[in-house]
Amino acid sequence: EATSFAVRVAPLGSHGQVLVLAEDQTERRRVEAVRRDFVANVSHELKTPVGALSLLAETIQDAADDPEAVTRFAGRMQHEAARLNYLVQDLITLSRIQGGEPIPIPGPVPVDEVMHEAVDRCNTKAAAKDITLVAGGTEGLRVWGDDELLVTALRNLIDNAVAYSPEHTRVVVSARPAGESVEISVSDQGIGIPESAQERIFERFFRVDAARSRATGGTGLGLAIVKHVSVAHGGEVAVWSKEGSGSTFTLRLPAFGGTAVTESHSTTTT
Ligand code: ADP
Repeated sequence: EATSFAVRVAPLGSHGQVLVLAEDQTERRRVEAVRRDFVANVSHELKTPVGALSLLAETIQDAADDPEAVTRFAGRMQHEAARLNYLVQDLITLSRIQGGEPIPIPGPVPVDEVMHEAVDRCNTKAAAKDITLVAGGTEGLRVWGDDELLVTALRNLIDNAVAYSPEHTRVVVSARPAGESVEISVSDQGIGIPESAQERIFERFFRVDAARSRATGGTGLGLAIVKHVSVAHGGEVAVWSKEGSGSTFTLRLPAFGGTAVTESHSTTTT
């Protein structure tokens, strides 16, 4: 993108001198463009389920004397309403954390609790595809942060692992100490992500395959949420993926107390 300047000229003293102020506005313009794109994207994403809902409502009115059709269309309305609900929930979560500010009241969070809560919420979806969810390796690990946000982030990663994997595969959720951090990974045996897209998947509404994402109920905001949650915690998220063989997402989060292993679980070293 081209560099842009705002130039202001002010008279200076009485000798015909002027003061020229040139302000680099490139960054401000870029931020504005991103915001405009975001609003346009949100409007577009909201229009789809709202449009479907009004169409279905009309159809139901026309089918009033066919109870079977009414039931079927009502089911589809429920499905669209649920999608709308997910989208609004994700938007609310994102607006709470994307300001780049640290989380308000952090505390010590046991990794096994976050992991089990996140896994619990994904179990039904995994079972429907006969995907085995394996979780472990959290013994004594604690991170510094907000438990609800961390569950949200991890749930999004597991949700994706399940959504972009074929039936009868495994998703492994694990954690390990890494210096002053804890690394939590989610590995799948799914479709993978082309290398050219790996940088962009954390952008809001970026999808490798939009049709597929919508079909799996994706809002396109999951990884943006994961990224902002990790940044708000002073951590980061990374992806490793190979098309056709699977993906691993790793959250690296500051350990509680500055060391990954708590007193009671650490072994004495000399
Ligand atoms: P979505 O709601 O579309 O899943 P996300 O922000 O969670 O939105 O993910 C963005 C895109 O990244 C997805 O549309 C998908 O193309 C890709 N993606 C995310 N996780 C995985 C994964 N585990 N395996 C393959 N592709 C993935």
